[in-house]
Amino acid sequence: MLSYRHSFHAGNHADVLKHTVQSLIIESLKEKDKPFLYLDTHAGAGRYQLSGEHAERTGEYLEGIARLWQRDDVPQEMAAYMSAINYFNRNENLRYYPGSPLIARHLLREDDKLHMTELHPSDFPLLRNEFQKDDRARVLRADGYQQLKAQLPPPSRRGLILMDPPYELKTDYQDVVKGIQEGYKRFATGTYAIWYPVVMRQQIKRMLRELEATGIRRILQIELGVRPDSDQRGMTASGMIVINPPWKLEQQMNKVLPWLLEVLVPNGNGHQLVKWVVPE
Ligand code: SAM
Repeated sequence: MLSYRHSFHAGNHADVLKHTVQSLIIESLKEKDKPFLYLDTHAGAGRYQLSGEHAERTGEYLEGIARLWQRDDVPQEMAAYMSAINYFNRNENLRYYPGSPLIARHLLREDDKLHMTELHPSDFPLLRNEFQKDDRARVLRADGYQQLKAQLPPPSRRGLILMDPPYELKTDYQDVVKGIQEGYKRFATGTYAIWYPVVMRQQIKRMLRELEATGIRRILQIELGVRPDSDQRGMTASGMIVINPPWKLEQQMNKVLPWLLEVLVPNGNGHQLVKWVVPE
């Protein structure tokens, strides 16, 4: 069952948070000359048209990236993320939203590598087309979780693994933890960034407990909420769990989140969090 299409949600508040964290990690990895692998296990279509039928139908980007677009007080920490948004919208209008693969493509260097997997029969060819001329990239129609066994450790022994499943299957929560364990066994020094939605808070608490129980250390949680937790349907917050975060990430997100909260949730019903689930 693959009914989730990211085109309905591209550029929403959750993407803004996810891609800000993703770009900060990439920029930190670039501080050393040595190349690294960017592995995107659930990559999506790559590029999303904000005036397209899907994005227009939900209008989620209007409460996400549209609120940041062309503001002149965006924090310096978000410069890399905004440079990708600007690159794909070179005239004045906000027409496209770059997904995680295109943000990575924009920020990575010549010797870095991008490996991406996507299963959806409509999104996979779109993603493959985006990267046809990019020698650094490998795009596979394959299961993302399997890549943590198949592609790690990378020859460069440096890397960011982004896991961004749709959580349309309840098993996704456990599969993420199992995938991380498999990856970590092979590549304990990699940086792993896992996106999560808060739909039912209990599911996230359970996933965090299971991650803690793996014995893995250095797990940072970053969250931005747009509404109080609720039992009703719908996402009230989203977050990133980062294993082995770059040392600056905690401090950078402590600067960025208050600004994002003000801009994305002006009614004051939101919340922010940067917390070590498991420290050093
Ligand atoms: N990471 C993308 C971004 O930030 O632009 C968005 C990804 S979207 C949230 C999740 C994607 O995972 C969907 O496109 C879905 O088709 C795909 N997917 C679902 N199950 C998968 C699996 N087991 N392996 C790989 N991709 C999968």
